[in-house]
Amino acid sequence: MRLILLGAPGSGKGTQAVFLAERLGVPAISTGEMLRQAVDAGSTLGERVKAIMSSGELVDDETMAEVVRERLGQADASAGFILDGYPRTLGQADTLAAILADRGWSLNAVVFIAVPEDELIRRALARQRADDQEEVIRQRQQVYRHSTQPLIDHYRTQALLLEIDGYQGIDDVASSIESALEVLG
Ligand code: AMP
Repeated sequence: MRLILLGAPGSGKGTQAVFLAERLGVPAISTGEMLRQAVDAGSTLGERVKAIMSSGELVDDETMAEVVRERLGQADASAGFILDGYPRTLGQADTLAAILADRGWSLNAVVFIAVPEDELIRRALARQRADDQEEVIRQRQQVYRHSTQPLIDHYRTQALLLEIDGYQGIDDVASSIESALEVLG
């Protein structure tokens, strides 16, 4: 199974990616997590992306293309994967399509976890991390709306989009995703 999880910051997609990966026996690939590890390790990549990440802006598409191409080339991804946090722009979606095509792979589905905007803001403020100022939270939502939201229509047009009601408890969201994927066989 090769899936993308799509959703706004605070939609719960990271949690659902981990659940799904466990259930399907494939890796959950979180680009945000990979970048945070690079920052913690003080690698060249980490140094390059540190400031951008803490401002709530997106790392450039070329850098992300390298990161994802390398990760999808690792052995564990050959059985399938759940992408969490990539793609985030239409350019990244095109790059991903090219990376997959090079390997003769295609996507099974794009799971979009839909949560109303006021609920997203409520969740974000409730679990505000120490390093997350309100300004950065707003910036991330803004970047999502501007750069990432267009992916919903992009994948809907390709008949890949599975829209899930994310305004429910974590377990109910997980069951809704499971039911939606069962239809795919
Ligand atoms: P996340 O944990 O997915 O919210 O990612 C944390 C931060 O890492 C984001 O706010 C971006 O700065 C950066 N990042 C993660 N994934 C991407 C991506 N696909 N494209 C650009 N920047 C990304």
